[in-house]
Amino acid sequence: MVRTTLGHSVRGRAIEAVHIDSAGARRAVLVVGCVHGNEPAGIAIARRLDRERRPGLDLWVIDDLNPDGVAADTRQNADRVDLNRNFPEHWRPIGHPGDQQYSGPHALSEPESRIADALIERLRPAVSIWFHQPLDVVDQSGGDPGVERRFAALSGLPLRRLTRYPGSAVGWQDQTLPGTTAFVVELPGGRLTHGEIDRYARAVVALAG
Ligand SMILES: [Zn+2]
Repeated sequence: MVRTTLGHSVRGRAIEAVHIDSAGARRAVLVVGCVHGNEPAGIAIARRLDRERRPGLDLWVIDDLNPDGVAADTRQNADRVDLNRNFPEHWRPIGHPGDQQYSGPHALSEPESRIADALIERLRPAVSIWFHQPLDVVDQSGGDPGVERRFAALSGLPLRRLTRYPGSAVGWQDQTLPGTTAFVVELPGGRLTHGEIDRYARAVVALAG
């Protein structure tokens, strides 16, 4: 396991990735535990995955892409931008600073989205899982529906197609990196139980292995 600092948030908090690279790995899988700061439940899953030692994994884990938002319990980053509207694919101006889905002055205006963009461009992960809350579904996000269906079955969450927004991370990946699948997992609200953390982490490992 190798922990790397990818860069820093608006307020200077380190954003780190953990890379679990074991023998026999076939494809890179990325997990982002949190992008909306007031939806932090996936961080516990990411931290569980950080300690994973199973063979056959090429797993990259960003526990928390929005540490300023988590610290302030806000959806947005410290610039009041919704990072999940700040990615390049179909980016368009949405709202104003402080608005729920403010998309920023331009695509990739925020250090946090640039950090994710740089890592993803470098890795081109075959599968990327972005955790959100609180809708309790796997979102059919626009990649390979077979991969999303498999994760839904493994995790016990239903598969639904939610609204697709311009400037979202998964939309950008699914549109610009053909042959790869990025999707949103909407966890239930509140904190996860230990059993739930185990179940979701096992689902990620089964999908990644
Ligand atoms: Zn969200």
